[in-house]
Amino acid sequence: MAVDKPTYTAAVVGGGPAGLMAAEVLAKAGLAVTVYEHQRSVGRKFLLAGRGGLNITHSEPIDAMLGRYTASSPSLVAALRAFTPHDLRAWCAALGEPTFVGSSGRVFPASFRATRLLRAWLARLDDLKVALKVGHRWQGWAKRAGGGVDTRRLVLERSDGTIVEALSDVTILALGGASWPRVGSDGRWVDTLTQLGVQIASLRPANCGVLVDWSADFVGQFGGAPLKNIALTVGTVSVRGDAMITTAGLEGGPIYAQSAAIRDSIDRLGSCALSFDLHPDLTAAQLTERLVRGRPKDSLTAMLHRIGLSKLSAALLRELTGNQVPRQPEALASMIKSLGIDVRATMPIDRAISTAGGVAFSELDDALMIKRLPGVFVAGEMVDWEAPTGGYLLQASFSTAVTAARGAIDFLTL
Ligand SMILES: Cc1cc2nc3c(=O)[nH]c(=O)nc-3n(C[C@H](O)[C@H](O)[C@H](O)COP(=O)(O)OP(=O)(O)OC[C@H]3O[C@@H](n4cnc5c(N)ncnc54)[C@H](O)[C@@H]3O)c2cc1C
Repeated sequence: MAVDKPTYTAAVVGGGPAGLMAAEVLAKAGLAVTVYEHQRSVGRKFLLAGRGGLNITHSEPIDAMLGRYTASSPSLVAALRAFTPHDLRAWCAALGEPTFVGSSGRVFPASFRATRLLRAWLARLDDLKVALKVGHRWQGWAKRAGGGVDTRRLVLERSDGTIVEALSDVTILALGGASWPRVGSDGRWVDTLTQLGVQIASLRPANCGVLVDWSADFVGQFGGAPLKNIALTVGTVSVRGDAMITTAGLEGGPIYAQSAAIRDSIDRLGSCALSFDLHPDLTAAQLTERLVRGRPKDSLTAMLHRIGLSKLSAALLRELTGNQVPRQPEALASMIKSLGIDVRATMPIDRAISTAGGVAFSELDDALMIKRLPGVFVAGEMVDWEAPTGGYLLQASFSTAVTAARGAIDFLTL
């Protein structure tokens, strides 16, 4: 799809993966594109995401993938179908970073990091004559004399404090959520859009750890240690994997996977009951049988060692029971299979991997245009969808960006 003369202008606000992808689609269609980013460089969270291995998407079939997103909005589904994991992997390969499928179906670029991909991508955007204006914070739009705002006149604050206006025919907002604000996405856009009457579901932490008030002894010995091969049950859902003891609480795969349920329970009831299975490979009966086999005079440490419980799991039993661990085999086995802990808070949003909430889908048309602000589209994590880790966050950020950019092109050309 190419746009005829006269050349239209597009402003993309936010230089994260969603903004840069929208810029690419718009520039390829012939629009004169400027990306405004308030940090000194673009893609900071993308680079941060790459530090632990950039899990860019997932290899499972698209129908299974769609079930991972909490918002079952038809426009999110359509966006994911319009730019699929297959398309994203082809896009990476075309940038010189073929992808591979890692354990549990997660997809990574060959270098495992975001650095090379971002470098190649910025070179491509440069070839497409996309202008990058860093150090420009979007503040909203110029007011119209008769009331309301003129969405073709963006108001931006430069890093030296001066205010400038920029003209554009269409705008894509890709401002991110509110997690890890030091890499740029600080959620300050919520006030600007709310004042214009746009409904925003409140921004909340997603894929986050939980706070636990560990004893000084426990955290001194085990802070930073992995709690390997456990199952974590919240309500009726169990997730297996490795958790991590931190000075502030618990992090890691199973905690993140359950964090939406934990957060929602805390919001409703003030707390959430977590249950750890410290030995998910054996049933309670099998554990009891092994415990019974020991010598009656065995110490608790010896009993736990005999059934293969790690030092950390044994210490966790002591920590969470106030050192009142039962020695009777059946009671001990049952505690190992369901060690309970009540948590009252998740990590704050600035330490979460992602953000739940955002611009409500009811405010958007099928092309992700804000209905009350014609010509303004939204993409990425600032839209009200939520998903677990596993590549789903970046996939939806890219997919919604492609949909928003195509929508902006249609808006100008139809
Ligand atoms: C530690 C960590 C690891 C992660 N790992 C993965 C992973 O492996 N796989 C995965 O799928 N996801 C991962 N994520 C999540 C993923 O990085 C995000 O979902 C994704 O970056 C969202 O893209 P976005 O473009 O919507 O927002 P962002 O990447 O947050 O970009 C938004 C941009 O907008 C800019 N901005 C904000 N306000 C303004 C303003 N007023 N004016 C101008 N610019 C503004 C910000 O500075 C920022 O550059 C991880 C996140 C974290 C924190």
